[in-house]
Amino acid sequence: MPQVQRQVIPQQSVTNDDARSRAPSNTLPAESDFRKLIGSATSGALARFLENKLRLMVWYRPPSAGPLVFGAQVSQKDLVRGLQTLPQSPDLASDGGTAYCLAILDDRGKPVALSRPGFSADWKHPLVATEIGESLPHWEAALYLVDPQQLSRSASTLRLTLGLIVVTLVAAILLGGWFMAADVRRQMRLAQQKTDFVSNVSHELKTPLTSIRMFADMLAEGRVTEPDRQANYLRIISAESARLTRLINNVLDFARMQRGAPARGRQACDLVDVVQEVVDTCRPHLETIAISLTLERDAAKLPLLGDRDALAQIVMNLLSNAEKYGGKEILVRVRQQDGHGYVDVMDRGPGIPAKKLETIFQPFTRLDESQASGVSGSGLGLTLARGMAHAHGGDVTYSARESGGSCFTLSIPLSEVQ
Ligand code: ADP
Repeated sequence: MPQVQRQVIPQQSVTNDDARSRAPSNTLPAESDFRKLIGSATSGALARFLENKLRLMVWYRPPSAGPLVFGAQVSQKDLVRGLQTLPQSPDLASDGGTAYCLAILDDRGKPVALSRPGFSADWKHPLVATEIGESLPHWEAALYLVDPQQLSRSASTLRLTLGLIVVTLVAAILLGGWFMAADVRRQMRLAQQKTDFVSNVSHELKTPLTSIRMFADMLAEGRVTEPDRQANYLRIISAESARLTRLINNVLDFARMQRGAPARGRQACDLVDVVQEVVDTCRPHLETIAISLTLERDAAKLPLLGDRDALAQIVMNLLSNAEKYGGKEILVRVRQQDGHGYVDVMDRGPGIPAKKLETIFQPFTRLDESQASGVSGSGLGLTLARGMAHAHGGDVTYSARESGGSCFTLSIPLSEVQ
């Protein structure tokens, strides 16, 4: 009995083979420890380190054997051999089996079994590892990446993709915000322009109406008797009503253009003739306000197929602007070049600042200086002029005049006539 008891004390530190060390007095406390450990269980396994080596013992207490406990120490070699095939079990070889290697590491961190025979890695640094449990203390089941670079490559690809998604989202949010803000700004500017337009047009209607009424009243009441003054007043009335007509035409044509109404019918006409007629209409009025108007013609005739009224309105609008903003000298030049007819309307006014060049062709737009100077206008003249020119396949452009002033040029292709 005592001998049996002594043999099932693997955890006791046996320092020598002295018989005394196996004496019951030496083994008793260990025996009581062992009994404590196994409790009332009938079988089990116990692992202990002796001289830095793992000893695994299995034991069994048959119910009929009374206090006897039978035990056997498992040889480590056999244990390792038994474990060898375990990581290669088909249950563990899923599709990740090619990417990973499962290893069982002994208590010194050395592999004793591998799912990929011949695999080698830095055993100290597995991807994940877990202790196997009490029966094999300090032994680990560890997982290694077959190609560790692949994970860092996938991680950097993922990082890059996530980065790109985040950048794209942020850019989309910023861009969306910017578009919304720009749209709100545009709507506000448009609303402001429309308000300005209403007050500008009212002002433009009121000024000629006031003078028409004043001069008509004076003539009607017979307060002016000299024929010269009478003729002058009649000319003013005529010029002011022409101004009213032009303004109303501009507003109506702008509305037509906005509706996308088809262009008016075309007929054969002569650009030189059209310009001459407009100049003749405007000259008397301009002379009364001391503005000199000169007409230069490079060609006698510039025939084309177009809307005569629209062409006259373009030139009239340019001339009206030269009168309003362009000082005391206006030069109108009609010329032909490269199959196009050109009409330059030049003045000696302040000109247009470079950064405002395109805005003046937008509807309801007026330069601050023009507004401040008290000159009335609707902000539609140039928009219409350009729109009508485009309808003829031409354009209205601006260039600074040599030695100061503006030069607005109407260009119309002449080829359509032939
Ligand atoms: P408006 O009815 O105000 O004259 P336009 O569309 O004809 O409208 O012109 C737009 C703006 O362009 C004007 O308000 C003015 O500020 C500027 N402009 C037009 N023509 C001239 C010019 N010859 N010289 C200086 N500024 C001009």
